[in-house]
Amino acid sequence: STFEGVGLHKLLINHLQGKMNIQKPTSIQRAALPHLLRPYDDKSPPPDIFLQSQTGSGKTLAFLLPIIQDLLPLSSLSYIDRSIGTLAIIIAPTRELAKQISDVLETLLKMRLRESQEISDDTEPRLTRWLVSGLLSGGATRAHEKARLRKGLPILVATPGRLLDHLQNSTSFNVGKCRWLVLDEADRLMDLGFEETIQGILKGLDGRRKLAMKAVEQGQGMEVGGWEWRERRTILCSATIREDVQKLAGTALKRPIVIRG
Ligand code: AMP
Repeated sequence: STFEGVGLHKLLINHLQGKMNIQKPTSIQRAALPHLLRPYDDKSPPPDIFLQSQTGSGKTLAFLLPIIQDLLPLSSLSYIDRSIGTLAIIIAPTRELAKQISDVLETLLKMRLRESQEISDDTEPRLTRWLVSGLLSGGATRAHEKARLRKGLPILVATPGRLLDHLQNSTSFNVGKCRWLVLDEADRLMDLGFEETIQGILKGLDGRRKLAMKAVEQGQGMEVGGWEWRERRTILCSATIREDVQKLAGTALKRPIVIRG
């Protein structure tokens, strides 16, 4: 029951243990991480995950760590082309929750990209440079958010309404290659009446993906640094398995497995 044992990258383990005082995985992390950290394989795509977990179980790291590990190779690109766009989206029911997740994400992204101790802090490559994260929660003006989206935000944390708004109204919101979707606190998303909004987001993401693939086929889009298309993986977190949550899982998840923590 160690982070090595579940397949976490050494640099991430160093960061967790050295900077965040997180020494070993919680029970939900032990159960979920081996599935989520499994390298993607087109021939047998890994399952989507229904994470039945309470707040305080460590679920946030259970979904953030695999996303970061998957996107680590971006740090070997000399620059990030805008056409990669947004690769991971985390949806939370409220602004406060979105902000909390975004704060944990920012802390994780401060990790070093080399093990060497001799490099000074300002020359040391850090993941924040490649994996710019963004919060879309209606806290900023829509125009401001649009401008940030246009520049490209590889990892987004968002509340549902604002996200759907941008999917429907911002043509420069590039999500055709999105490869991770997290629906955090899905039971609260349902309690707050977001069912239709989430369905709209799922449709919007599929639509954008098809459009982007078409553009590449017609020679308009570019492949960047080996960032191939990949099927989206979805993680749904919920404290309870209720009927409405199960219904949502039915449309959002492919080949799902349920993990309890
Ligand atoms: P969460 O359930 O994601 O809201 O996490 C609850 C709290 O547990 C947060 O303060 C985390 O920093 C902390 N936490 C998450 N994973 C671990 C771990 N493996 N060991 C110790 N604390 C953790």
